[in-house]
Amino acid sequence: MAERIRHCAWCGGAFKAAPGPGRPQRYCRKSHRQRAYEARREAKRRALGPDEVLITRRTWEHLRDALIRLEAAAEDVAIDIGQGRPTKTDYVEALGHLSAAVRDLQDVVVEPTAIGD
Ligand SMILES: [Zn+2]
Repeated sequence: MAERIRHCAWCGGAFKAAPGPGRPQRYCRKSHRQRAYEARREAKRRALGPDEVLITRRTWEHLRDALIRLEAAAEDVAIDIGQGRPTKTDYVEALGHLSAAVRDLQDVVVEPTAIGD
């Protein structure tokens, strides 16, 4: 049986699941299975519902602010290249704005403290 590409239930990263019998592999590594277990245990302790996730304020603020900047950059780009006849320079500048906004998101690590199950 061939290896199957799956996505880790903790980090979302792709991994090759080992073929064979038994439950399908849900995590890319043992440490992620352990973190997911701890997050579920913490969710039970805090009585979180199945659609609730607990993250730190710092992570939430960082993610929220980066998404606001990305949304603003996307709006600016849509306006800039949506007017008249955009030049190659307009497109290059627009992509530069979008790239800068995306870079803000690249260093955001969302690692929940608890995940409702
Ligand atoms: Zn993982």
